[in-house]
Amino acid sequence: MHPTTLVDQFAAIVGEENCLTGEEERLCYGHDGSKLCHQPALVLLPASTEEVSKIMALAHRHTVPVVARGAGTGMTGGAVPRSGGLVLAMSRCNRILEIDTENHLAVVEPGVLTGDLKTAAQRHGLFYPPDPASSAFCTIGGNVAENAGGPSAVKYGVTRDYVRALTVVLADGRVLHTGERTAKGVVGYDLTRLFVGAEGTLGIVTRITLRLIPLPEDKATVLAVFPDVASATALVPALVNDFAPCTLEYMDRTAIGLVRRELPARVPADAGALLLIELDGRQEVVRREQKRLVDFLHTSPALAVMEANAPFEAEELWRARRALSPAAFSLRPDKLSEDVVVPRNRIPQLVAFVEELAVELALPIFTFGHAGDGNIHVNIMHNAALAPEAQAAAAAKKRLFDKALALGGTLSGEHGIGMTKAPFLALELEPTAIEVMRALKTALDSKGILNPGKIFPENPIDSSEKNSIE
Ligand SMILES: Cc1cc2nc3c(=O)[nH]c(=O)nc-3n(C[C@H](O)[C@H](O)[C@H](O)COP(=O)(O)OP(=O)(O)OC[C@H]3O[C@@H](n4cnc5c(N)ncnc54)[C@H](O)[C@@H]3O)c2cc1C
Repeated sequence: MHPTTLVDQFAAIVGEENCLTGEEERLCYGHDGSKLCHQPALVLLPASTEEVSKIMALAHRHTVPVVARGAGTGMTGGAVPRSGGLVLAMSRCNRILEIDTENHLAVVEPGVLTGDLKTAAQRHGLFYPPDPASSAFCTIGGNVAENAGGPSAVKYGVTRDYVRALTVVLADGRVLHTGERTAKGVVGYDLTRLFVGAEGTLGIVTRITLRLIPLPEDKATVLAVFPDVASATALVPALVNDFAPCTLEYMDRTAIGLVRRELPARVPADAGALLLIELDGRQEVVRREQKRLVDFLHTSPALAVMEANAPFEAEELWRARRALSPAAFSLRPDKLSEDVVVPRNRIPQLVAFVEELAVELALPIFTFGHAGDGNIHVNIMHNAALAPEAQAAAAAKKRLFDKALALGGTLSGEHGIGMTKAPFLALELEPTAIEVMRALKTALDSKGILNPGKIFPENPIDSSEKNSIE
């Protein structure tokens, strides 16, 4: 039978069973971690570059919006199909194709879970450092599209620093191979970097070659408790300079209160801030450095210094850190979860500003995050159903962005722009930068079908051109 409708033609590419048309099924693919939701007209689950290429060629011909989706854990609405159209769920492209132990490379499909790649590399004595807190359930494709990072970025960098080569399907279905497997390579423009952090607006990533490094032999975990945030965060530059930690996380007083039950009982009741510090490397070096770190902390304003003596004790500390985000909702039902970055010597100024803002706007706002690289998670808790609180939260967000920029920082260190930060893009980027971005977008996606309405604030697909696939 010859396919007739557009839906039939898409279904013919991936097979009926991988073409979801039911209301409930489509709803499941309409949201992400931002809690924004728009229902797609159709969900396709392709299994290969070839299928993605055919889908894009057809979507391009009919001007159908296409949104790639990993695990939908993004925090800014990146995977939300704002203009309807197709969601390309990459969960069937989930193979680790190669681990090259001699050249320290992994080749994966985009639907591989980050944690699964880390485990697979570890089995070969290798290490894939990027460690978003969502590692257990987010995908490498989503990490590439968001340039995800995590606690280890302070020493090891972010996803971008590990991507060597990509296979990308362009908006019109053409297949592009970027980058190289070698550590060096300067042939032509760095197209690989163009697609990292592009949030699915320039192409669909279908294969990723990643750099791996040798697995550190040992790790030490130390928790230091401080009377207040100022004394804790003031130590950050010295800790980074003198100890090159692989983790330097912090929590403020409210954050400690939220997860107190998960923390070791030894954490004093008057704790105003915590620093969680990890060192890794060769065992004898780590043990020596751990002792030097603890001695250093004892000369600081720290109220208490605790060493994890076994992996399970370190895991106990990480459990508390991971419990923070969900625990926040005991404060208020809604959260604006921002991830600004400032130079690390300016964290004390940012945190003091946030504390004053919370008092002025009468909102619970707490901070925690990656102190080592100045990436502070600012959680603006509020009740969106109460207009004054919703307005105060929106005002807090704008003033936070202004302050981060005034301190020489950036609006987002991890979560990207998506929909939730799109209106603020021009706060940070000069008009020429936005013009160049638009020129690149137009060159690669002349019809604007790839993830419309993301990054650029006023970029919805032209509805007069849009072709219905329902
Ligand atoms: C509890 C929790 C903790 C988190 N912690 C961190 C953290 O520590 N660090 C951090 O950086 N982020 C963190 N995040 C955010 C999120 O996990 C990351 O942004 C992650 O990279 C998203 O991956 P995903 O597979 O869920 O992508 P999705 O949310 O599905 O998609 C994200 C974006 O990537 C695009 N995309 C997905 N796949 C492809 C592809 N194959 N080709 C092109 N574009 C694609 C989508 O269109 C979308 O724009 C956290 C989220 C949660 C819920």
